[in-house]
Amino acid sequence: MDALPDFQLLRPASLGDVLKARTEYPDARLLGGGTDLMVNIRRGIVAPTALIDMKNVTELRAIKADAKGIEVGASVTLTELAEHPEVGKYYPVVAQAAAHIAGPTHRNMGTVGGNICLDTRCIYYNQSEWWRSANNHCLKTTGTICHVAPKSRGVCFATFSGDLAPAFLTLGAEVDIIGAAGLRTVPLNSIYIGFARQDTPVTETFGDGKYYLSLRPGEFVTAVRAKNISGLRSAYDKIRIRRSIEYPVAGVAVALRREGDNLVDLRVAFTGTNPRPVLLTGTERLCGRTFDERALKGLEELVRDQVMSMKTTFTPGHYRRRVAGVLARRLVTRLFNS
Ligand SMILES: Cc1cc2nc3c(=O)[nH]c(=O)nc-3n(C[C@H](O)[C@H](O)[C@H](O)COP(=O)(O)OP(=O)(O)OC[C@H]3O[C@@H](n4cnc5c(N)ncnc54)[C@H](O)[C@@H]3O)c2cc1C
Ligand code: SF4
Repeated sequence: MDALPDFQLLRPASLGDVLKARTEYPDARLLGGGTDLMVNIRRGIVAPTALIDMKNVTELRAIKADAKGIEVGASVTLTELAEHPEVGKYYPVVAQAAAHIAGPTHRNMGTVGGNICLDTRCIYYNQSEWWRSANNHCLKTTGTICHVAPKSRGVCFATFSGDLAPAFLTLGAEVDIIGAAGLRTVPLNSIYIGFARQDTPVTETFGDGKYYLSLRPGEFVTAVRAKNISGLRSAYDKIRIRRSIEYPVAGVAVALRREGDNLVDLRVAFTGTNPRPVLLTGTERLCGRTFDERALKGLEELVRDQVMSMKTTFTPGHYRRRVAGVLARRLVTRLFNS
């Protein structure tokens, strides 16, 4: 394993101090639990000269959850979120997603902000410096081509794998983002711009596996929140290579409402499949009737159209897409019948 390079560690205790540090050290990276960032620093993927540790920022450490809504600060740990009784009671999809992340020690350190803004992953990227240099690097770092799709015309397909984003997406969550220009609140879905379309140039609002977040320079996430929707049943599940500690091959969050025999609301979101978490569009077409074999076929078609099949992980892309469809089918059926 490579030794860590030198960097300065800043430990602000308030949001004001974080903003000040951001101005004084424009190239500094934010440090949540460091469970992903420190690995990437050790591998020479990024080499920030300063890190701003967010753990002691008291304003970002609260969880508010009740029958009306949920609000979680960016520095809350994944263990705190997974074990919070009200989160488990009213927002099971969030508690279950948090409990599915990595292993217990990662969850004790890892934070909500770090998970929501997690870097995208690829078998050609999450490697040591010597491995990547032997392969001539790739577009996401200093190389000139994409090894996953050599004819990608400058587009990177690295995959977003954070488990919390799909859970919050099914709740219609919004995020607070702060920067030098002040605080803004936007739909969570709008910060993920990893569309990775070869026919569309990468812009500030339309990115790929390399430019996957719409945060402006210096901005960071302070909180995520959602309102409770009466009667919404929700759950999270994922397939991973090792059951104990592993990024998702595919993860799926489902939230639905049933009235009598009819499905009246259906939200399905994936992670581990595309350069962004995918909130499936078109699910309203499956609502207004019972969830039968025809609806299941319709769900499978939506998954096939919207889930990417690029091979960015150890499993073949088409297998990952099939897994995503099967997981969604099982979870929707279970929740509908529960
Ligand atoms: C063996 C192993 C298995 C793993 N398995 C999973 C898994 O199953 N599911 C999963 O989701 N993750 C997994 N991870 C990744 C990681 O542990 C989690 O995603 C964790 O939640 C990251 O949070 P963190 O606070 O440690 O982030 P950090 O590593 O501190 O930061 C991650 C990124 O977010 C940025 N950041 C941090 N806070 C903010 C903020 N407030 N606003 C904007 N940007 C911010 C950082 O600058 C960095 O770019 C795994 C990691 C390892 C090592
Ligand atoms: S998808 Fe292509 S450009 Fe992106 S990290 Fe993988 S190999 Fe590199």
